Amino acid sequence: MSHPITRARAAAANCLPTAECATANCQHLVQPGFLMCLPHWRQVPRVMQRDVWTWYRQIGRRSDAARSYQAAVAAAVEAVYQKQLAAEASRSKRNATLF
Ligand SMILES: [Zn+2]
Repeated sequence: MSHPITRARAAAANCLPTAECATANCQHLVQPGFLMCLPHWRQVPRVMQRDVWTWYRQIGRRSDAARSYQAAVAAAVEAVYQKQLAAEASRSKRNATLF
């Protein structure tokens, strides 16, 4: 997907909105069953992506799956947040050297 689905784009296409990206302050909509928009999902380390999918598939099969899935989702969202903070800090440092 080269362009993430936004609310405006979904409305323009007369599509029913789906779920929102799980990360904070993201306006992108995602297909049902997906946790995040593609740009944010790509920021999640592969090990964490695998954990999310593994536990998602186990829901209903194992009693501890829902809790483990929630923990995996929280870790993935936190990973994206930490990457955003690091990127912001890097931008601030670059801008500070310009002025
Ligand atoms: Zn997103």
